[in-house]
Amino acid sequence: MKDLPARRLLLVHAHPDDESINNGATMARYAAEGAHVTLVTCTLGEEGEVIPPGLAHLAADRDDTLGAHRVGELAAAMRELGVTDHRFLGGPGRYRDSGMTGTEQNHRPGAFWAADPDEAAGHLVQVIRSVRPQVLITYDPDGGYGHPDHIQAHRVAMRAASLAADPAYGEGSGDPYAIAKIYWNRVPRSVVEQAFAHLRDTAPDAFPGIAAIDDVPGVVDDARITAEIDGAAYAAAKTAAMRAHATQIAVDGPFFALSNDLGQPVLTTEYYELVRGSAGGDDGAREHDLFAGVPDAAGAPGVRT
Ligand SMILES: [Zn+2]
Repeated sequence: MKDLPARRLLLVHAHPDDESINNGATMARYAAEGAHVTLVTCTLGEEGEVIPPGLAHLAADRDDTLGAHRVGELAAAMRELGVTDHRFLGGPGRYRDSGMTGTEQNHRPGAFWAADPDEAAGHLVQVIRSVRPQVLITYDPDGGYGHPDHIQAHRVAMRAASLAADPAYGEGSGDPYAIAKIYWNRVPRSVVEQAFAHLRDTAPDAFPGIAAIDDVPGVVDDARITAEIDGAAYAAAKTAAMRAHATQIAVDGPFFALSNDLGQPVLTTEYYELVRGSAGGDDGAREHDLFAGVPDAAGAPGVRT
């Protein structure tokens, strides 16, 4: 791909909806600032539970047409975030949602969890060498909360980042390219504690129950956070993107619930831990720009510094 913007951000996620919940504000902000934002989603989320009763027939144990429906939900969410480059790993339907840990779906043919990580990473290497992103965002080794597809997405993203940089890998699949900075999605414990307290104080009855802090993926001690992206200006875009995933997410003001009907706060400041590359800015201070310190992205047009 020629003539891409100076700043290029790649996100790797397991299912449609993960990107909006975890990174919706970050994606909207960088897209609005003129960066090229690429989303790679590894499965269609075929095994998701369906919230609206009128769409219950889509579920895997009935018509098994949820995947195709979620392709449309993801496209609508990307319109809300202003992101035009969204792809499925290996093409739509190449890898199927593996279901929750311990279910028989984990090992069915085509399940993402059953895929060879090297084979799956090969598809992502092509994207990396073509788009040449300076920044990659994905999950931690636990996938944030242990879902097999999230763990696999982490493995594939980290493996692909290494392979893309290896001159000996993949003759004919593009020039080697090293991603400057890799971040894992995080949520600082103090922030999520405060946000849940706010939910209990202001909207205790918005949902049938309230989630536990441990239900939130990627929660860690505050000290591990190295970057925070203030997405307050993009809160409406993030919320709209989450609403677009209507089979999976019920939004009520600044709160939402998944199919378990347990309320959670929508976080519009999003947090990250830098795990590869060097932080820009002051020593020890949190970064406020994921591209900070990346030489060929500095001073790019339309970029707030
Ligand atoms: Zn997911």
